[in-house]
Amino acid sequence: LASKEVKKEPSVVRISDTLSIGGKELVVMAGPCSVENEEQIIESAKAVKAAGAQMLRGGAFKPRTSPYSFQGLEEEGLKLLAKARDLTGLPFVTEVIDPESVDLVASYSDMLQIGARNAQNFALLKKVGQINKPILLKRGMSMTIQEFLMSAEYIMSEGNQSVILCERGIRTFETATRNTLDLSAIPVLKSKTHLPVVIDPSHGTGNYHYIAPMSYAAVAAGADGLIIEVHPDPEKASSDGPQSLKPKKFQALMDRLRLFAEAA
Ligand code: PEP
Ligand code: MN
Repeated sequence: LASKEVKKEPSVVRISDTLSIGGKELVVMAGPCSVENEEQIIESAKAVKAAGAQMLRGGAFKPRTSPYSFQGLEEEGLKLLAKARDLTGLPFVTEVIDPESVDLVASYSDMLQIGARNAQNFALLKKVGQINKPILLKRGMSMTIQEFLMSAEYIMSEGNQSVILCERGIRTFETATRNTLDLSAIPVLKSKTHLPVVIDPSHGTGNYHYIAPMSYAAVAAGADGLIIEVHPDPEKASSDGPQSLKPKKFQALMDRLRLFAEAA
């Protein structure tokens, strides 16, 4: 179902009455890794909106490597994201980590994220295939492109065709970056599937210094969107501070992306 042989025209996934991903316009989703408290998510939402982001991101259910790390605010986090949406008008994407909480997360959010660690959780993929909300499917950290497309197929074969693919870096021998951002995945995916492709330069590199150059390169390579971690005070973030931009730096990135769009 994801194959270009089945459908030649690129898919445009509808997020709201006024926003779609996969059309002409680049869609930027931005916000903190985790929702931490009301002030933090509202401040983040206002900042990314002012910079020109079209969607808010924020994790309420966090898939942490260690069980002792912050696990997220759960439903309270979803409520705070909804409040941030009410105040800014930005739709939001948030992660769902198990089949049992899919209906709860879907009842609040505009798009559900399947994280890299769950990219082959087939029970979860089937469950999100049965709902009527767009799905941002992240590539697993050791997943081939073919396996990635098969995970999309798990969602689509249950009925939900609104799938967006997200490259977020893969595991290689290189340790200078947290992951190795596979930008070649953009043209490769575009040759195989009609689904939109989004790049996550935050998880892809693990270092805020590399977010801007990788964002420009992703856009040049044909990405339909970017998902970027932005935090008002990254040093104090409860997760992924080192790969989060401060609002000012995010604003500068967005201004430069706008120049590229005008030039294109
Ligand atoms: C995230 O988006 O914060 C996240 C946990 O991403 P990934 O699943 O790509 O590691
Ligand atoms: Mn994160």
